[in-house]
Amino acid sequence: MRIILLGAPGSGKGTQAELMGKDFRIPQISTGDILRENVKNQTDLGKRAKNFMDKGELVPDEVVINIIKDRLLKEDTQQGYILDGFPRTVQQAEALAEAMKPKQIDVVIYIKVSDEIIIERLTLRRVCKDCGTIYHLKNNPPNKEGLCDKCGGVVYQREDDKLTTIKNRLSVYNKQTEPLIDYYKGRNLLKEIDGSQSVSQMNQEIKNILNRIK
Ligand code: AMP
Repeated sequence: MRIILLGAPGSGKGTQAELMGKDFRIPQISTGDILRENVKNQTDLGKRAKNFMDKGELVPDEVVINIIKDRLLKEDTQQGYILDGFPRTVQQAEALAEAMKPKQIDVVIYIKVSDEIIIERLTLRRVCKDCGTIYHLKNNPPNKEGLCDKCGGVVYQREDDKLTTIKNRLSVYNKQTEPLIDYYKGRNLLKEIDGSQSVSQMNQEIKNILNRIK
């Protein structure tokens, strides 16, 4: 199954994508993770992307489109995949549809959540530097402060999870990504779920949707 997870930063896409990847045994592909890996390794791509990311702006379309095209050529995407954080503009959505022909997306899950909840989630979000596991200081903190339960890596706050950058990311989302809701609605692909629910409730609702489509 080929799935897109759509939603504002902090809507829970990453957490849900990870769970779905395990449930359905398909890869979770996050452009944010791929870009952060490149920033960490100081590749040319990473150096180009870093400024945009730190400010909460989108990395230029042609850069992320090329990343996704390369990634979707890999063997592990044959049975399907979950796109988390891509597409984020109509131009990206169109490039994706063109590149994947004739294998189109099966469903777009849109996680709807209010700005207040997003701000609370993102300011308290922490991430493992090594394996990317996501924590929340109040609802799901690591057992040992600052250290990942899974791999022992350092758990840190992303530069772009600081309040001023979050506000910019939300405004970028409203302007550039929200039009995708109508774009996919018009193609009869959109399924909306309530992002204020708990992680396990959302996971169950997504599973129900996917089992109906399968
Ligand atoms: P995320 O981890 O999905 O919140 O992405 C972190 C940052 O990476 C975003 O704020 C953007 O700067 C960049 N990014 C990730 N995915 C995309 C995309 N599809 N298009 C443009 N920029 C992206």
